[in-house]
Amino acid sequence: MALLEVKDLDVHYGAIQALRGVSLTVDKGQIVTLVGSNGAGKTTTLRALSGLVAPSRGSIKLEGKEIAGMSPESIVRLGMAHSPEGRGVFPQLTVRDNLEIGGYIRNDKLDDDIERAFVRFPRLKERSSQMAGTLSGGEQQMLALVRALMCRPKLLLLDEPSLGLAPQIVQQIFKIIAELNKEGMTILLVEQNALMALRCAHVGYVLETGAVRTSGDAKQLAETDEVKKAYLGIG
Ligand code: ATP
Repeated sequence: MALLEVKDLDVHYGAIQALRGVSLTVDKGQIVTLVGSNGAGKTTTLRALSGLVAPSRGSIKLEGKEIAGMSPESIVRLGMAHSPEGRGVFPQLTVRDNLEIGGYIRNDKLDDDIERAFVRFPRLKERSSQMAGTLSGGEQQMLALVRALMCRPKLLLLDEPSLGLAPQIVQQIFKIIAELNKEGMTILLVEQNALMALRCAHVGYVLETGAVRTSGDAKQLAETDEVKKAYLGIG
């Protein structure tokens, strides 16, 4: 059984139809990426999956259980965590408090998870009592990612983790995504940086004006003339 199975998803914002019959599958252990140009519907897809917008049609199954229309909190409890576009950290809270909030659904202590995260991200450890709003863009992005991990998700949704970051930091973020996946985390990644996303993912979906235009093996997809021309600025 797929970890996530999405079928025929439509989303409307008032009169605007943002998604048109989007179907996709994420298997356990995979990195799946959604790529496409501005306004294609990538963020809307993630928002629909995590319950932040209600789909007007379609089905979303997490481990076979229908979750379309459920509250964001119920969906987090079922094992889906969302690291949103624009980072969304709480600027007036410390790094550590942001992490504590990330694990709010758990009843046990987070200390071990936070310590493990600090080993991986020594920059966050050094800044654990600093206000999140004073971190650099790359540090905030790392904090948002680690915060999403605090609820020990089965599926991690990442929206544009490389947005607005310097190339060196982008490389670091992609390295961390690959490492997390090697450790067993299943990831659905939305990216404008289509080439890097397709190179690190197993499966890719190309969205265009709210619909899936093409999908398949991510590495092969990165090599097709159509994708190179339209989304990678090559050819
Ligand atoms: P980008 O790469 O620019 O972030 P995207 O692929 O993530 O784009 P979405 O943000 O999902 O695209 O937007 C899809 C469509 O829905 C766009 O036409 C956008 O204008 C519209 N849209 C998104 N959010 C809203 C909203 N809150 N109200 C009205 N329309 C919206």
